Amino acid sequence: MTERIAVVGAGIVGLAVARELARTRGAVVTVLEQENQVGAHQTGHNSGVVHAGIYYTPGSLKARLCREGVALLRAYCQEHRLPYEEVGKLVVASTTAERSGLRALADRARANGVPGLTELDALALREIEPHAVGVAALHSPHTAICDFPAVARSLAREVAELGGSVRLSHPVRAIRERAGKVELVAAMRRFTFDRLVVCAGLGTDRVAAMAGRQGDVRIVPFKGEYFSLGEHARSLVRGLIYPVPDPRYPFLGVHLTRHIDGEVLVGPNAVMDLRALRWPGTWRLAGQHWRTGVRELYGSLVKGAFVRAAQRYVPALTAADLRRAEGGVRAQAVARDGRMVDDFVVDVHGPIVLVRNAPSPAATSSLAIAKHIAGIVPALSG
Ligand SMILES: Cc1cc2nc3c(=O)[nH]c(=O)nc-3n(C[C@H](O)[C@H](O)[C@H](O)COP(=O)(O)OP(=O)(O)OC[C@H]3O[C@@H](n4cnc5c(N)ncnc54)[C@H](O)[C@@H]3O)c2cc1C
Repeated sequence: MTERIAVVGAGIVGLAVARELARTRGAVVTVLEQENQVGAHQTGHNSGVVHAGIYYTPGSLKARLCREGVALLRAYCQEHRLPYEEVGKLVVASTTAERSGLRALADRARANGVPGLTELDALALREIEPHAVGVAALHSPHTAICDFPAVARSLAREVAELGGSVRLSHPVRAIRERAGKVELVAAMRRFTFDRLVVCAGLGTDRVAAMAGRQGDVRIVPFKGEYFSLGEHARSLVRGLIYPVPDPRYPFLGVHLTRHIDGEVLVGPNAVMDLRALRWPGTWRLAGQHWRTGVRELYGSLVKGAFVRAAQRYVPALTAADLRRAEGGVRAQAVARDGRMVDDFVVDVHGPIVLVRNAPSPAATSSLAIAKHIAGIVPALSG
């Protein structure tokens, strides 16, 4: 019996899942997307970095699916002639106090199987990034950049070629389970499917509530703002320059990233969206970080803060080199007790599979997440 499966959300995760279900299970797949283009949210507004797996807790889904995802994505880009460039990443300790954090990160990266790592001193790091400064650095030569929106468009084309459809301007507004099937309403039409996979990013809570599966975490939006380097300053950054991250939260800190189109971005910061204050976890999260004095969550929006963050690693940059660029909004799950959910989370509720948390590196990991999900969408009996 041919399965009819709906996927909510035409971001890179939803499209990768749709392609995988069509390709490996022969399902007839329908992707329902509220916007009039694919990749309109996180997928189209991120740093464009194919993470190598440096940061994630060994054994976690993030660690495993990131490494698998890199291999799949590299092969996918090659096969479909999409840009993929191993520009390499330096994680830079800018003070001696950050050395121990850098060493712990190197151990973690090795445990995760990140290839080609080297630990560099102040002089050696300048051979990789001649305009960067720091007391030490970790170099990951295979960390890459790619064009995630182009990957999303390619996946959408494949879904259509495999007999599925991607329906744009189809916001899902109601969901009901009946007799083991899933009925839903999108763009004033009623659809019936055997299975439903929700990959709705910032819309996850709303779609989960429609399905009567609200759960005990909520998505809190964290705005990430970027500045872009003027053309004359771009040569100051060859690849990717990152700080040693603060282990207290899952964001990587303001970094300098070369994009596939040659643009170099500075950012993103992480500004909590106060519209999420109805969830007690948001208050608790804010309270905890307020007390420990972590400023980044309330990120100074002023240009000076970005200039200082960039100059810490590339001192030759000046305020005149930075101009504001388009930002993105992260969908980060927060538990009731204020804990930011670190790992990817996928729940199965009868015929409905809900991706509850797919923050960075979910774009890098998307093809591996898709395999993981295709393996847990319940098969039709009989
Ligand atoms: C600032 C920033 C920097 C990042 N940097 C990186 C990076 O360098 N590398 C990396 O790997 N990851 C990075 N990420 C994370 C990465 O972008 C996301 O993890 C990934 O794009 C998630 O994909 P998605 O398909 O789950 O979500 P999205 O791309 O957000 O897609 C969700 C889709 O669901 C749709 N939707 C929601 N509700 C409904 C509804 N009711 N009906 C129909 N459609 C609906 C939305 O319109 C949207 O298109 C970054 C994220 C941000 C924001």
